Amino acid sequence: MTASTTPRILVAGGGIAGNAVALQLLRAGIAVTVVERATAPRPGGQAVDLRGPSREVAERMGLTEGIRKHLLHEKGMVVVDRDGNQKYRMPMDMFDGKGPVADIEISRGDLNGVLLTELAGVAGELDYRYGDWIEALDQDADGVDVTFASGAVERYELVIGADGVHSKTRALAFGPEEQFTTYLGGYMSFYTIATPPQAEPDWMTTRVVPRASIGVRPDSDPATSKAIITLRTDADPALRRDIPAQQRLVREMLAEAGWLAPEILAQLSTATDFYFDELVRVDMPTLSAGRVTLLGDSGFCGSPMTGMGTAMAVVGAYILAGELAATPGDVAGALARYEAAITPFLDKAKEIPGGGIQMMVPKTKLGLAAAQQVGKLLTTKVMKPVMMKMLETTDDYTLPSY
Ligand SMILES: Cc1cc2nc3c(=O)[nH]c(=O)nc-3n(C[C@H](O)[C@H](O)[C@H](O)COP(=O)(O)OP(=O)(O)OC[C@H]3O[C@@H](n4cnc5c(N)ncnc54)[C@H](O)[C@@H]3O)c2cc1C
Repeated sequence: MTASTTPRILVAGGGIAGNAVALQLLRAGIAVTVVERATAPRPGGQAVDLRGPSREVAERMGLTEGIRKHLLHEKGMVVVDRDGNQKYRMPMDMFDGKGPVADIEISRGDLNGVLLTELAGVAGELDYRYGDWIEALDQDADGVDVTFASGAVERYELVIGADGVHSKTRALAFGPEEQFTTYLGGYMSFYTIATPPQAEPDWMTTRVVPRASIGVRPDSDPATSKAIITLRTDADPALRRDIPAQQRLVREMLAEAGWLAPEILAQLSTATDFYFDELVRVDMPTLSAGRVTLLGDSGFCGSPMTGMGTAMAVVGAYILAGELAATPGDVAGALARYEAAITPFLDKAKEIPGGGIQMMVPKTKLGLAAAQQVGKLLTTKVMKPVMMKMLETTDDYTLPSY
């Protein structure tokens, strides 16, 4: 097959970005191989938000009905003290569904399930492989020879790196991770727990102490909830693959938190979907290097603090697939248009509303008291226009149509 016919495309990573782009490419009649490093769909993740233009994309991709079946009916966010007494509360509709809890919330695992169900129903050339990944890339002007961990060597006209914030595809095609990432001052962890009987149903409840926060968020099954933890600490590369060390750090930094923390932390080591990662931002000088392009967190992560990771992945997938389908014989042209179209959206979506980890998790008791006063103030009517300005940054983006 040459570059002048329909390209054969490899997608590395079966997360939201990879599955969304695979779906749109298949629908356009393009043959797709997906390699996902995990041996089965990865569960886990707390509520992710569909904000800004990603809602329109979900609608155009025909995902809205599937998403509706899994919607989390979260009423808002409440911050409590060590005895569980309310400090302040932000109902979801206080900021027209655009605040810390959005009006369209779905757990990450459920959203991925919706995409996988759609993928399974599309007639087309899909080769979906779990438990494999790219080991080497060797590209020329027309395509890429890919060596997989399984030992297979295959040629593709395009490789899409949708393999997350620590993308191996990015490292192979662009260089080491450190060149493109900025550490944002901490770590986040999510895992599923049995819902504590004292937890307020349908509310995301958070307890903040100096340098750490711990919370519970509703799950689609009321019997379970998602634990959500933020730690403010220096980066420690030794933590990267050391799950016992990650869990030790979580326990240490929240040892004095009170509230429901002991019960939530007691379920750490038995959680089957424990997720822990550093908060980083990814900024690429360009999204494509020849016949390799990046999508989702691998190319433009803003961290879970933006609340926009899923939106960026879905919007990026829609545009990338749309451009490739528009000119299947001109991959280079499609990649250039993809980057030009998505960049104005990314610039705004990567902004962290409300001051980032410094405001979310202050270092000292004094800082915490001040941040909570600001939090309370933001719930007053007079501050609504200020909040809305912070929360509507991507609403004016003009989404291309395909
Ligand atoms: C288990 C999990 C839980 C998460 N929970 C949350 C959350 O609660 N809140 C939040 O805001 N964000 C969460 N995220 C991040 C969020 O999913 C992303 O910011 C956003 O959806 C963009 O997705 P992505 O597909 O670009 O990256 P990811 O969701 O990270 O998906 C990347 C996929 O690539 C796979 N992969 C990794 N390396 C390779 C490789 N070398 N070859 C092939 N495949 C590879 C991974 O297993 C993963 O399935 C989570 C991510 C994961 C993986």
